[in-house]
Amino acid sequence: MTANAPITQDLVTIPRKAEDGPTNIIGLTRDALREALLAIGTPEKQAKMRVNQVWAWLYHWGVRDFDAMTNLSKDYRRLLAEHFVIRLPEVVSKNVSMDGTRKYLVKIAGGHEVEVVYIPEEDRGTLCVSSQVGCTLTCSFCHTGTQKLVRNLTAGEIIGQVMVARDDLGEWPEQRAPRNETRLLSNIVLMGMGEPLYNFDNVRDAMKIAMDGEGIALSRRRITLSTSGVVPEIARCAEEIGCQMAVSFHATTDEVRDKLVPINKRWNIETLLAALKEYPRLSNSERITFEYVMLKDVNDSDADARRLVKLISGIPAKINLIPFNEWPGAPYERSDWSRIQAFADIIYKAGYASPIRTPRGEDIMAACGQLKSATERARKSRREIEAEAARG
Ligand code: SAH
Ligand code: SF4
Repeated sequence: MTANAPITQDLVTIPRKAEDGPTNIIGLTRDALREALLAIGTPEKQAKMRVNQVWAWLYHWGVRDFDAMTNLSKDYRRLLAEHFVIRLPEVVSKNVSMDGTRKYLVKIAGGHEVEVVYIPEEDRGTLCVSSQVGCTLTCSFCHTGTQKLVRNLTAGEIIGQVMVARDDLGEWPEQRAPRNETRLLSNIVLMGMGEPLYNFDNVRDAMKIAMDGEGIALSRRRITLSTSGVVPEIARCAEEIGCQMAVSFHATTDEVRDKLVPINKRWNIETLLAALKEYPRLSNSERITFEYVMLKDVNDSDADARRLVKLISGIPAKINLIPFNEWPGAPYERSDWSRIQAFADIIYKAGYASPIRTPRGEDIMAACGQLKSATERARKSRREIEAEAARG
């Protein structure tokens, strides 16, 4: 990317309905499902009940065949099968790290690949979900940002990642998952590939499905969306999704943030903070998580820590320090451990929780910012892409 390259790009999502194929029923919100069932001739009076029944089969029981929906008549099941398919991303490979982290490479329509990461912890299990193939933004420390190929995922492809992870974890009631225990997949973070707020509608619809009490039923407090700072969509996220918000802050001056998170040139620190200040009230949620990647000699000084505390004062916040995860050709180094500790200390003394995120799944390239589809990874480093762009 050259310095003048556009920092954002609006993308279209591929249509839900392939011209010659049936509609994928996965990813329709309740309202859209109702419309779709009416359109195939479901009587108005029955529509609500049919939506409830189909919904429970798909998202509570996890069935993948209309024929298994045994409280529907055979004719109605046949009608559904004529007009819809139940299509999930295809798991191409699964890697399990020494620390138990699982990374799935999944294939979606068009042959694109995205990565999904499951991180087991003592009191929870978090699924890190992707929202786009690649990312149009070009944060200089992020591997995903070097991927050239980009498209928005559909709502079905986003919720589909949750569903295939549940398959692998054996967590559907059909699979005799234990009840009354911490769920294996108890939290979702939209921190995989892509900028979720640049694919707002699909992310919202998928999260509505995840939060629906008659299905996957994850509380909005267990879903965290991470944005690099797409300011106009932050209030919308509060109002229409209401999940927890994390922001990729990473710098305490516009000069440095412009370089690390180029979207800062469009919406700078002051504008971003103003939007974040409003978030907890609008969404009725608690604290904003400020993510801060620790880059040696770039953003990790004591002065940075003090500035950070000052900047966020007045915002209920938690600061998540992320030791930089290296990737081939990356132009940065991870801050020394003692530096990270000193930085964390300053923040802690100012009254903020400042957990240092333990890198997980590094041995399988599953850690934050390392995601990039295997084919793409093999292809180009950022330097190569820049050299190519410069050659014009
Ligand atoms: N696009 C969104 C969400 C995906 S990135 C966003 O930027 O917020 C998830 C988190 O990982 C972000 O905070 C991102 O800045 C961080 N990250 C990216 N590359 C990283 C790397 N190499 N090491 C550590 N964290 C990284
Ligand atoms: Fe995109 Fe987030 Fe990576 Fe930036 S950090 S390039 S916004 S995925």
